[in-house]
Parts: sequence; C-alpha cells; structure tokens
Amino acid sequence: MRKRLIHKNNYKIYHRPYSELNVLEKKRVAEACFRKITVCALFLVIGICFLALYRILFLPRIFLEGSRVMKIEYQGQYIEPGFLSSYQGMDLSSKVKVSGEVDTSEVGSYPITYEVSYQGHFVSKTRIVKVVDSKKPKIKFLSNPDTLYICPNTKYLFDDYVAVDDYDGDITKEVKVKQSGDIVKYVVSDSSGNKVVKERKIYYKDIEKPTLELDSANVISLTVGDDFTDSMYQVSDNCDDNIKVKVSGEVDTSKVGSYVRNYVATDSSGNKTKIVQKVMVFEPTKKGVIYLTFDDGPRSGTTDIILNILKEKGIKATFFVTSGGPDDLIRRAYDEGHAIGLHTASHDYSVVYSSSDSYFNDLKIVSDRVEKVTGKKSMLIRFPGGSSNTISRKYSPNIMSYLTEEVLRRGYHYYDWNIDSRDAEGGRFTADEIANFVISNLSHDKVNMVLMHDTKVVTKDALAKIIDYGKNNGYEFDKIHLFTDMVVQHVNN
Ligand code: ZN
Repeated sequence: MRKRLIHKNNYKIYHRPYSELNVLEKKRVAEACFRKITVCALFLVIGICFLALYRILFLPRIFLEGSRVMKIEYQGQYIEPGFLSSYQGMDLSSKVKVSGEVDTSEVGSYPITYEVSYQGHFVSKTRIVKVVDSKKPKIKFLSNPDTLYICPNTKYLFDDYVAVDDYDGDITKEVKVKQSGDIVKYVVSDSSGNKVVKERKIYYKDIEKPTLELDSANVISLTVGDDFTDSMYQVSDNCDDNIKVKVSGEVDTSKVGSYVRNYVATDSSGNKTKIVQKVMVFEPTKKGVIYLTFDDGPRSGTTDIILNILKEKGIKATFFVTSGGPDDLIRRAYDEGHAIGLHTASHDYSVVYSSSDSYFNDLKIVSDRVEKVTGKKSMLIRFPGGSSNTISRKYSPNIMSYLTEEVLRRGYHYYDWNIDSRDAEGGRFTADEIANFVISNLSHDKVNMVLMHDTKVVTKDALAKIIDYGKNNGYEFDKIHLFTDMVVQHVNN
C-alpha cells in the first residue's frame, strides 16, 4: 500500500513541471538525483581501481627518478635523472627506450619520452624539461654609475649606458629611462621577463679638469744665449670648446739659472689643470776645457796622493763620492777648492737601480754625508755606470729614462763623460797606457769630460802625465760648477 503510494506520488511528480512542485516534492526529486550521482561515482571509482589494478598486474611499469617537470638554466647541463621499469617483479629497465633532446642553448620546453614494450604490452611516460633564463639582464654605465654629471646648458643624450642579457644579448634599445627631479631611473626586462631597475643622481655640473699637454718636455736644458720660446700645447675639455691657457713665469736666457714656466688651463666652471715646466740655462759649452772627474772615492792611500798632485799642479777637479773612505779626504778636497759631486752611497747596481725610490734613498745618504762634511749641499750627480748604462735594465726596465728627467726636476744636474781613462778595468792597463787613452782623445773642439777613479793606484801615476800634456798643449782645466753645461750620454734604459 505504502509502496504504491510512493510510486503513485513519484509518477505525479515526474509528469508535472518542476516549478509546480511543493517543497516536499522538490526534496524527493533532489534525493533521487543524489542517489543516481552517487551510484555513478561509485562505478567510476571501481572502474579506475580496476584499471589501475590491471596496469599493475598486466602492464609493464616505468618509474621516473627526479621530477616529471624539470627546470634547467639556459646554457646549463641536462643530466638524465634516471628511471626504472618493471613487470610483475621483473626488471625491465634495460629495455626502456629514451627519446628526445634538450637544447640548453635555447629557452623552451623539451619532452623526453620513456617507452617500454614487453609481451605485446606497450607503456610510455614523458618528462618535460624546461630550459629557462632566470638571470637578470645587466645595465652598465659608461660613466660614474652612482652620479651622472652633465655639462651645464646641455641635455642628457641617453647615450652612456648599455644593457646586456646573457640570453638576449644587447638589449640597450629596450631600456626605458625616466627622469624625475634629480633622479634618473633605468628599467629593462629580458625576453623571459627578468627585470632590472637602476637609479642614478643627475647633476648639471662640470667636474672634470681640462686636459693639457705640452708639445715639449717638462724639463728643458738650454745654454746661455739660446732662444727660448713657450711650448706649444694641446688643450681640451669635456664641456668647453674654448679653453684659455695662461702662461706665466720668466725665463732669462742671458743668465745661467733655473726658471719655472707655469701653464694653467681653466674651463668655464673653474676647473684648472696646471703644468710646471722647468727651464735650465747652463753656461756656454767651454770647448777645449778638460774636466778631470774622479769617481768611487774617497780612499786613503790614493785620494790623498791625487789631491797632492792636483795641488802641486794647481788644478781644480771634481770628485763624485760614495759612502766609503774617510770624511777628512772629502773635507780636504772641498777645502782645496775641488767640486764634490754625488755618486750614490752604496754604488751597488742591484740597490740603486732596483727602483727610483731606492735610487733617491741611496742618493740622500751620500748627499747628507757631503752636506755634513762640507756644510754645503751638492747638486751635482754622476750615475753609477753613467746614464747610458744597461745593467739597470736587469733591475728596473726604463729606470734611467725616468731618473735622468727626475733628477733635473729635483734640481740636480748630472754629468757623464766623453773620455774614458779605462783605469777601472781591473788593472789591465799601465799608467802610461791610461794617460795615452786620455791624451789621444783630447780635443780643442769639444768639452773634455774625463772619467777616472781616485780609488785606483794606477790613476795617480797617470795623472801627472795627463796634466802636463794638457798644460803644454793649450788646454784649460776646470772643476764642474752648478751650471756647467751637462755632458750626457744616450739613455739606453
Ligand atoms: Zn763609479
């Protein structure tokens, strides 16, 4: 009876429009629908379980190590993470065929397929390898990266930066530049969406000095009566076209002395560049004069005898001293009117030519000695080995090029020689031979700067003969004065 009634009621519900049903009837319809959906879902779950069970029991299986979707950086290396395959407890890994390639030089998705077939069953799996570019591009500034200085009254030309991406290459054109107030913002993204933002401060101000270069050397040697003309120069500036150069300082080539010329370039913002040129005016070249110079002393037993001979003959000479020997001999030479020059304290090539600092440190030691003994600072120099020596190359390439200019800048004058007595060649020559080397090279048409060594026994024996020959043949003898015209050799290092 109840069954029929329900059936009858349902029948009624099904044949009437849903909108005409009462609440109870609508609820019944909903319950009926829910039951049907539940039954369907149940069948679906059972179906999936059967399928899974079927696969487990009756199909080979592939297990991928690592993740199914992998990410690799552009230009990285793809290494197969590995896989296993089995069928009902049997290892089929060796039967798996792997196909697909990963090109890490190109951003993209690359499928790798793993396939195995066994006893008519075929199974495959796919791994996706994504080659990505996750590195940000770089913005590089060609000028100051923090602050941008632009010439006053000019516009920023957006031309002092580059943007480079490891994948896209040069993306300078993609850079967006925004200026607000005194801040400039640079933004750029690469094709993978990696974005970089940089900020700089901007000032309309010229902070750069003009560049100024003289066409002639910074130290110039002239002799009395020579013409001096101001050096030509090259000047340029980042902001100004018309840079004025002011030249000051007096040079009087009619008088010996050291003169200073100042070249000052100033731009319109007041930035200055100054070059100081030193001009030295030496005595006129004294042709036919013999300058006897004695290096490496003093030394007891030789220097004193040489001083005796010079005194007896009434000749003034020049002694380039070291730190050796007694102070008394330096004092005696000075008191008897000879010139005292500096030859360096150690005379050790490996020390004096190891660096310019080392040279000047060594020079200071002997300079202090001479000043202490004579009460006067000496500004006369002879380089050990002469300015043309090549042994210094072993310790410092180009050091002589630097030193020969630097000593002049510091107010020293250096003297090489043009006649070598060869008395330092280890006792190879007799006193007569040494005297003849000098005598045969003397000339009335040149300055005769004679190299000798007051540390050698043989030298004192040759000396009298040289002086007598000079006197008998119309030569004059003199010591080197501060502005005696320099005799210099060709610099080879
Ligand atoms: Zn020497």
